[in-house]
Amino acid sequence: MRILLSLALLFVLACNSTSQTTASSSDVAAGVTPDLPEYRYDPPAQPGEINRIDTTTKYWKSILTDQEFHVLREDGTEPSFSSPLNDVKEAGVFACRACGLPLFSSSTKFESGTGWPSFYEPINSLYIQQDVDRKFGMERVEVSCARCGGHQGHVFPDGPEPTGLRYCINGAALNFVPEADL
Ligand SMILES: [Zn+2]
Repeated sequence: MRILLSLALLFVLACNSTSQTTASSSDVAAGVTPDLPEYRYDPPAQPGEINRIDTTTKYWKSILTDQEFHVLREDGTEPSFSSPLNDVKEAGVFACRACGLPLFSSSTKFESGTGWPSFYEPINSLYIQQDVDRKFGMERVEVSCARCGGHQGHVFPDGPEPTGLRYCINGAALNFVPEADL
């Protein structure tokens, strides 16, 4: 446990050292999108290895816009057809907006018509946490980032082959990294 805490602390310190590139709070308030710090694409050194991040609300608020914070840390849902990532068709990776863990590949993205970025499988099942969500009188399966716990969306059993699954994800919870930048 002590090792995990140390790792988490190291991560936070590492993040803080690069967070100078984010926009000021006044820019965020004015609707300016903060520059994305490099660590928002941050795959594990060993594929499949996950060190859980457990940090503070204050930290998340310092690196996320209000909408990103609402989706990722308060299980929010962005309005459908609102994310520019809906229309992204180029090759690349969709990483967790909060911690940079690569969650979905463009090769599994499909047009679901729902207005949210949709994928038929994650990059690595270990990178996704799934929990039953009984909010709003429905029983759905919530999908979160396995490293930071950030809410991503839900998974439904009505997707295309080969999995038959539809990961319905908030664009605000993702950061697209083009293949050339990987
Ligand atoms: Zn994450």
